[in-house]
Amino acid sequence: VERTLSIIKPDATKRNLTGKINAKFEDAGLRIVAQKRIQLTPAQAGVFYEVHKERPFYGELCDFMASGPVVVQVLEGEGAIAKNREVMGATNPADAAPGTVRADFAESVGENSVHGSDAADTAAQEIAYFFSGLELV
Ligand code: ATP
Ligand code: MG
Repeated sequence: VERTLSIIKPDATKRNLTGKINAKFEDAGLRIVAQKRIQLTPAQAGVFYEVHKERPFYGELCDFMASGPVVVQVLEGEGAIAKNREVMGATNPADAAPGTVRADFAESVGENSVHGSDAADTAAQEIAYFFSGLELV
């Protein structure tokens, strides 16, 4: 089975939405196999989102990701990477399909409640950034 890295972002943890978001993941057949609540520094968020460092919103994105606690988690299931992105919905909540996390909860294209890995190689890299082997059963 496949695994993916998910982050419940500060806009969502602030509004106490972790349980409601996790319910959408579980209802879609994704299993939460690891999970912890942490607070990133802007520098740590910058490393995580390094792929976007030339984009105009990079500084704003790093500051936002460090603005409050995040819940980082590993989701497991058949086709977990694609399934998670389906449950998340489009990056911009205005474009997100009804019932998705971003349609129901995101505040804007930047403060959009969740992150999900976009491919097998980035999933492996992102899981290793937040979790040690000992934390993964
Ligand atoms: P994520 O990588 O967080 O799962 P995504 O893959 O849907 O989201 P990306 O294009 O990888 O979208 O952008 C990464 C993140 O950068 C977005 O989730 C959002 O928080 C932020 N972002 C993207 N586009 C914009 C924008 N135009 N203005 C502000 N922030 C943006
Ligand atoms: Mg992305």
